[in-house]
Amino acid sequence: MSQRVTIPRELLPQDGRFGAGPSKVRSAQVEALSAAGRELLGTSHRQAPVKNLVGELREGLHSFFGAPEGYELILGVGGSTAFWDIASFCLVERKAQHLSFGEFGSKFAKATDKAPFLEASSILTSEAGTLPAPSAEAGVDAYAWPHNETSTGVAAPVRRVAGADDGALLLVDGTSAAGGLAVDVTETDAYYFGPQKNFASDGGLWLAMMSPAALQRAEKLAAQRWVPDFLQLTTAIENSRKNQTYNTPALATLITLNEQVRWLNGNGGMDFAAARTADSAGRVYAWAEAHDLAQPFVTDPAERSNVITTVDFAEEVDAAELAQTLRANGIVDVEPYRKLGRNQLRIATFTAIEPEDITALLNCIDHVLRH
Ligand SMILES: *Cc1c(COP(=O)(O)O)cnc(C)c1O
Repeated sequence: MSQRVTIPRELLPQDGRFGAGPSKVRSAQVEALSAAGRELLGTSHRQAPVKNLVGELREGLHSFFGAPEGYELILGVGGSTAFWDIASFCLVERKAQHLSFGEFGSKFAKATDKAPFLEASSILTSEAGTLPAPSAEAGVDAYAWPHNETSTGVAAPVRRVAGADDGALLLVDGTSAAGGLAVDVTETDAYYFGPQKNFASDGGLWLAMMSPAALQRAEKLAAQRWVPDFLQLTTAIENSRKNQTYNTPALATLITLNEQVRWLNGNGGMDFAAARTADSAGRVYAWAEAHDLAQPFVTDPAERSNVITTVDFAEEVDAAELAQTLRANGIVDVEPYRKLGRNQLRIATFTAIEPEDITALLNCIDHVLRH
């Protein structure tokens, strides 16, 4: 083993967490958790204190997304992965079309494709690092893609599919985008996400901003299809309207999530978040483009994500070794997505991360490359 470079302290970022999920959690969130401790932790989620917290969270997210009347913030236990099964049962009526351009988009595509009560899904794919376009198709009643493909760092436009059948829903996986990228939720019927990316909380919950059409679809399918109780969306809707979840949520996750939503809304909401992540990501892309040994993995600048950046390195750089050296210096989780298999670093530029820390990280990478 070669001797690892020690990065001078003055070059190091204030905070060394740049992982693509879970995100860095801000200290103020941990303080909020500590402050709420005796009042909320260890108390019933069916009683007013926790229900008020969930109510504040739902309102805070409604306002963050600028959602119109009729849209409702629904939540439940199980993370975005659970929502794929929920949506397969409760939002897709006969056939779905998916854009599959990385790990996360492909997982939801497989879920609907395998469901024995649905027709085989139409799955439009493209190579990792690129983006396919949706294509209106008769008989498709739900279109789906991730807003941000976390495995590759490609961001997709969020807009309705021109020429789609009347009533077709658009289900967008905003897990790693929500809270960091701008979105017009009126273009979607379910914009779903988890707390552990730009909202800088912990995993385990799913949240979905749902349109009236999606709420109606859930009612309709609940009346005509067997659905496992845990995945029944109408149950989640009824509970959410009472500021509860069907089963016990992690209270600490709710507290740190709510604190991040307060912080975002207090600083200017979605515009603030989108400007901050654009600043951070812009620093990475500008650095990589100017570098002799690095380049952005996503070649089309229009498809580059502002919340997950991916940087390929020249052959003479061992990116895995680079990531290990950074880790030995307290800079963690910049390894590439494991199944992508590239000589790459993946650097999250989530809202919780300070843009100045991104600059410090890039200086640290340069320092290691020079030594
Ligand atoms: C992280 C992630 C998921 C998985 O979220 P879980 O809460 O772990 O189920 C799904 N989709 C995208 C785009 C993600 O980034």
